[in-house]
Amino acid sequence: MILPKVAAFLESCPRAKPSGDYTQISLACPFCGDSQKQNDHGHFSVKIEIGSREPMLYQCFRADCGKKGVLTTDTLQLLGCTDMETLMELANHNADIDVRIEKGFTVKSVRNYEMVNLSISDNKEKLKYINRRLGTDFEYGDLRNFKIQLGLYEFLNLNGIRRLAFKKEFCDLLDMYCIGFMSMYRDYLICRDITKEQMTGRRYTMYRISGKPNPTDMKLYSIPGNVTLLEPTPAIINIAEGTFSIIGAYLYGGYGHDAVNSVWLANCGSGYQETLLHVVKQYGLTDVRLNIWSDSEIKMRKYELLVKSVQNRMRLSEVNVFYNEKAEDFGQPKKFVKTNRVRLV
Ligand SMILES: [Zn+2]
Repeated sequence: MILPKVAAFLESCPRAKPSGDYTQISLACPFCGDSQKQNDHGHFSVKIEIGSREPMLYQCFRADCGKKGVLTTDTLQLLGCTDMETLMELANHNADIDVRIEKGFTVKSVRNYEMVNLSISDNKEKLKYINRRLGTDFEYGDLRNFKIQLGLYEFLNLNGIRRLAFKKEFCDLLDMYCIGFMSMYRDYLICRDITKEQMTGRRYTMYRISGKPNPTDMKLYSIPGNVTLLEPTPAIINIAEGTFSIIGAYLYGGYGHDAVNSVWLANCGSGYQETLLHVVKQYGLTDVRLNIWSDSEIKMRKYELLVKSVQNRMRLSEVNVFYNEKAEDFGQPKKFVKTNRVRLV
């Protein structure tokens, strides 16, 4: 038998070519990136003709990779599959063989939760905070452009979500003292405590919308935008540590705002390297321009090391580090932003 959706997806991958008898498909290996020779065939071979309780096995035939194993939904997503029905077809097949194969099956594709910000008293205070912090005059409607959700409970109610990710008492605190930023995959609300006293006990709380937090999930905040792989210019990845920082950089940094093909991300506690590698892999980027919107306390040395550590894993055609000469980061009103650019690569 053949899993039709999975096979069709594999056939759509770069360098995909089915064998003459249609029992295998070879394609570009997602683990090693495959050979760099032009017009070379893919070395990643997947067995698509299988018995009803037989796993789909894969193997990379490049000697220095040699990766092999059972094709899982994780592998499919690594190959760029975001289609729920395709993922489910494989998940169900694998679960029939052994439930452990797909243990922890999570879909990393974008989900569509509704966001709403009502004009109620807590929200008024939070909106005021944002406008004071960034010197903006946002109205409730503008918050949507930045995927900002002021109240946790409003959000859960609107989306019909009854189960809480944490104990009720803690969720009460998140609802009261935090501003939510929707994560890149729309599966987490990144709750930023905005009180001086840090009433929730920490700066960021990662609120998984559909259940218990999973420590291996990427919890990045991204300002909505588009990356087009067909664009001839390299994609620009903008990264700052914090959510307000990246919004300030986007609004007032004076660099890259109008550029097509750019992403604007906040680490929210993940390392720069992890963030960068993840995004490059996720979008399948081959050529990258990197803009780091740094906190002032972080020294250039750290970024030099970062470049060194990722250089053999992607093509970096430009790396800039920006410091705000007037404040500790870019999460400031316009008059407190003066960008100083240091070009590293
Ligand atoms: Zn390989």
